Amino acid sequence: MWQKLSQILPILLFSLSFLVIILGIALWNRLKRSANELQIQSLNQQISYEHDLFLNGPGIIAKLRNELGWPVEFISSNVQDLLGYEASRFTNGELTFSNIIDPEYLSQYSRETNQADVDRVESFKRSLYKIIDQQNRTKWIQDNTHIIRDKMGRLTHFFVHINDVTPLKEAEEQLTRSHEYIQKVVDTIADPTMVIDTNNHQLKLVNQSALELYTNGKQLKEGIRCFRLSHKRNTPCKGDHDPCPINQILKSKKNVSVIHKHYKDDGEVIHVDVRATPIFDDKGEQVVQIIESHRDITQTVIMEKQLQHIAETDRLTQIFNRMKFDEELKNQIAWASLTNNHFGLIMLDLDHFKQVNDNYGHDVGDQVLKRTVELLHKRIRKSDILARWGGEEFMIIAPLINHEELTFFVESLRSAMENISHEGVGVVTASFGTSILNPTDNIQSLIKRVDTALYQSKKRGRNRYTIL
Ligand code: GH3
Ligand code: MG
Ligand code: MG
Repeated sequence: MWQKLSQILPILLFSLSFLVIILGIALWNRLKRSANELQIQSLNQQISYEHDLFLNGPGIIAKLRNELGWPVEFISSNVQDLLGYEASRFTNGELTFSNIIDPEYLSQYSRETNQADVDRVESFKRSLYKIIDQQNRTKWIQDNTHIIRDKMGRLTHFFVHINDVTPLKEAEEQLTRSHEYIQKVVDTIADPTMVIDTNNHQLKLVNQSALELYTNGKQLKEGIRCFRLSHKRNTPCKGDHDPCPINQILKSKKNVSVIHKHYKDDGEVIHVDVRATPIFDDKGEQVVQIIESHRDITQTVIMEKQLQHIAETDRLTQIFNRMKFDEELKNQIAWASLTNNHFGLIMLDLDHFKQVNDNYGHDVGDQVLKRTVELLHKRIRKSDILARWGGEEFMIIAPLINHEELTFFVESLRSAMENISHEGVGVVTASFGTSILNPTDNIQSLIKRVDTALYQSKKRGRNRYTIL
């Protein structure tokens, strides 16, 4: 008996463990299946929830047949809430989709459907169109269409998902109307006027007068920035030359006024008086936009320049007059004391000039004065300043010059005078008095010194120079 048992025991044990393995696999499979079932169940729930959400959502879903009038095979019941029509009126064939499209938009709807068919697209967004609801009111519709084809690839149906965007569209129209109204108002302003976004320098509004000034009346591209329009440049203004009104206003939060050099489309330079006013955000804290008014003051600037030129120029010789010389000398002394530099001052006086006038007449005397200036002009350096100080007396300011150079310079002027013969007159020499600015000098002391030096040159026989 024990022998028999020991024979079948391994077989028994093997069968038992085999059974345990089979049972284990079965149990594992069952657990896995129920987990899968749970997962599927939850997915189904989610789909049905989304389906409900979709059908009862703010948009209407419909399935249309691509046939005459676009008969409706299915339409979500919310069509009643949104457009007033009962869904069954479509599905029983009483109404087709084309019946509710505003006739004005039928050809657009048809054209876009055909185009999508030709382009073989799967879905597309239509241009806005209008639908007439049951109460005969028109509604703006946004429509996403999904195309369904049969096995042969023919467009048989399409799903449409439509939304009433009337409030949005009306708000947009209202905005356009108020924008147009503001545009009309600013167009009546005679001065070129513009509204600029302080964040990105983009022009938000430009009146007709500004277009005429800067673009010959041509309309602007969307998003163009102020410096492109008026400076024909791709970077904002900075520095002291053309100070940026936006930066100034952001700092001061007050009106600012600056003079800028601007450019027209043809490159013509104009001088503009720019007055800028801040526009604040709702809280009245941040400057969000500025209004700029541009007045073309080119004529005034040119006139001012002409007046200034007249005021500082000697009429006969067209060099600086005494008034301008005094100003220049004052500046040079200030600059020299600031930078610890010095300059030379030369005073020259024509010798026996009275005799020229007496012998040859005043006009000939004038010609001699003019020729003398031409000669001096040729000899002086670019940085030197030449001025008529009095009748036949001239001054030269020679910056950054040492004693030796000054001596050489004055002598070269003296000999040049001596070596030129004036027509009908002959040689007219000059006497020179010169000096270098010293740190204790003021205008009077310096002029006094060169005048004394000149007097000494005259006293010593003329046609010579004296350095003090
Ligand atoms: P000196 O060598 O001592 O300087 O003798 P001068 O004759 O040059 O000096 P004076 O001061 O006696 O005479 C200067 C003359 O310059 C007198 C004046 O008629 C003449 N003069 C002054 N301004 C002008 C001008 O604009 N045109 C002409 N033609 N002569 C002028
Ligand atoms: Mg003289
Ligand atoms: Mg004189």
